[in-house]
Amino acid sequence: MAMPQDLLIPRPRKIELTGGAMPLTLLHAEAPDLLATEARAADTLFQQMQLWGEALPCRLLLNTELPAEGYELVVAAEGVRIGGGDRAGVFYGIQTLRQLLEGARKMRRNELAALRIVDAPEFHWRSCMLDSARHFQSAAQVREVIDALARYKFNRFHWHLVDHFSWRIGFRRHAEMLESFPGHARSSGYYTPEEIREILAYAAERHIEVIPELEMPGHSSGVFAIHPELACPDGLPIDLTRGEYCIGNPASRRFLGEIIDETMEIFSGIRYLHLGGDEASPRHWQQCPVCQNAIRNLGLSGERDLEHHFMTELARRVLDHDVRPILWSSLRAYDPRIIMQCWGGRPLDPELSRGSLAGNHSMVRCQTSWIGAVAAAQMELALMRGADLINSRHDYTYLDYPMRRSEPHSSWMPDLPLERVYQFDPLPEETPTGRRSQVLGAEACLWTELVTPDRVMGKLFPRLLAFCETVWTPGELRDWADFRRRVRHHQR
Ligand SMILES: [Zn+2]
Repeated sequence: MAMPQDLLIPRPRKIELTGGAMPLTLLHAEAPDLLATEARAADTLFQQMQLWGEALPCRLLLNTELPAEGYELVVAAEGVRIGGGDRAGVFYGIQTLRQLLEGARKMRRNELAALRIVDAPEFHWRSCMLDSARHFQSAAQVREVIDALARYKFNRFHWHLVDHFSWRIGFRRHAEMLESFPGHARSSGYYTPEEIREILAYAAERHIEVIPELEMPGHSSGVFAIHPELACPDGLPIDLTRGEYCIGNPASRRFLGEIIDETMEIFSGIRYLHLGGDEASPRHWQQCPVCQNAIRNLGLSGERDLEHHFMTELARRVLDHDVRPILWSSLRAYDPRIIMQCWGGRPLDPELSRGSLAGNHSMVRCQTSWIGAVAAAQMELALMRGADLINSRHDYTYLDYPMRRSEPHSSWMPDLPLERVYQFDPLPEETPTGRRSQVLGAEACLWTELVTPDRVMGKLFPRLLAFCETVWTPGELRDWADFRRRVRHHQR
């Protein structure tokens, strides 16, 4: 018979059986007005559980002695009490109660063991990214993902919405970006401003912040089919292989500035905006008279410095809205208000594959030792420059990588079995003591080049369960054998 501690993911900090039990009967939430949303979430859960019989109270309250996002859950003969350090803490207590109720239901028990759980997260940045650009998921599917994240106590949803031929935000002032891109049969679809606002509200009720991403200055090849004037006049054809804006041209900055402003209007109230900033090739900038002129006029030393200048200006535009920008980690130093997301880099990245790091290793060799070296170097650089960072080291957290070889995958992708995700350490041991608070937390990423909408949940689960425990549960309480026992109760 499974005990309560065998049912819970992520594993709580402290669980104590207090003796006796509570009959599995109808529950109803009692809460102050401040917790009306959480009371609704609890009552919805109790309805879904189809509980019958004499009603017992589930008391919700704030307890300022508990840490932020922390909670205390007490199950006793006379009912349930959930105290939270804040509203989010109360919500997480309800999610833990959900797992206990579902476990009891599955095992056909008619009571819940009396217990006391005291719990709080290890990291306050517990994020999952969904790429809705490469493949488009309906708004209902996005809500389903957010629901699943909430059950496992995630508090950030990073939404990749602009990439190459796919612009998924229903811009009104730049509606041309929603037309189909000449010469490219992309999957169609975008989210209207109304749908986006509904998704933001849906996520907020579940204590999840949405972080939209606009990719720039690379990954933008579709743009030049519509706005050829934003490509470098370098004499080379404007074709599908061209991914970068002309960053020496003020018109590019103007265009992206307008896109940022409109994104802020549609996503009103957000605290973070991801600006991409990843995998741009300097090939066109090197041949472009406009970019070369800008480098000379600004007294910069090369194309990467011009890119840094360009991204700094756009990040400033975001900061003007009182929103913090996030960038995929760069080898350049940025304003410390910009959060760096470190993923590691691929052997194909020309900036990283120079010198002894890459050497003559084959790509497969690279995937073992080389990736680790790049990821560590990238994190160290960001930390020493004073940046806050999100760890999403790809060989642990990229859930598009195959869990089994039989899944569709690209040849360069390393395997990512469940156990490896569980071994992920968001705050690696070698992080310097004085820099540890700069590691805000971690993110699991689902890129969808090869992932059709019907496969999204199958790619996320069960590995997202392993990931959520790495960001919620302290390292010393994590145990693979124990997790493997618990994960059986969470099969979808
Ligand atoms: Zn140019």
